Amino acid sequence: MHQALELIIEIQELDIKMIRLMRLKRQRQSELKQVSDLRADLKEQLEIKEKEIADLEKEIALSEEKIQTLSEKQKKLETKQASVKKVEEFNALSQEMNTIEREKDGVEKQTSNILDKKATEEEIRDKLKESLDLSIVNSKELENEIHLGIDKINEEGQQLKEHREEIAKRADPDILKIYERLLRNKKDRVVVPIENRTCSGCHIALTLQHENLVRKGKLLPFCEHCSRVHFWQESESVEGAATGMRRRRRRVAKT
Ligand SMILES: [Zn+2]
Repeated sequence: MHQALELIIEIQELDIKMIRLMRLKRQRQSELKQVSDLRADLKEQLEIKEKEIADLEKEIALSEEKIQTLSEKQKKLETKQASVKKVEEFNALSQEMNTIEREKDGVEKQTSNILDKKATEEEIRDKLKESLDLSIVNSKELENEIHLGIDKINEEGQQLKEHREEIAKRADPDILKIYERLLRNKKDRVVVPIENRTCSGCHIALTLQHENLVRKGKLLPFCEHCSRVHFWQESESVEGAATGMRRRRRRVAKT
């Protein structure tokens, strides 16, 4: 392998770890948001419910006032009726009183319906309040846990960053720049070994000529399919791992 690439590969492993770490951090942050969104949603529902109940209470108060007014009117008519002498006048007052009685009945029925509705809404409100209280207690614990997780991720990230800076100082700046540009595009390993004359990044077969260039240690042999940089892996362990993987794949393919 080209000497300059060794450091880049070392940096690459740290960068891949960092990419995974940042992905995990975003996941944790979105979990935090979910928890607080749920709580905000419950709070909003509760506020809407309280407003509905307050409106019903206003309606009830108005109805009760109306009933009161009608009762007073009725009493006045009763008194008036007691003092009239003429039958026609008496009958006219009776009719008027009947009309008021019917109106009062209607308002009372309406009020009773509103009271029922209010009771139902209050039950829902109490349940919402219970859920909100429970969610506040539970989510606090969960949020603390997530915050601790994020702190740990930040700490690990800081260590990775420092380690990377240390290695990057020794790397060839031009190759490092090319590598970083490729990494930004792919967000995945961009300096990869050839395995079985195939690019282990895009898994497309390569020419023998290209493989020879890589084997001879040509600087920055780019994959013509995915633009990743290839290197020749001599070490036993990787060869073994690669053939082992192929064997496994073949076995899987057979079954
Ligand atoms: Zn490729």
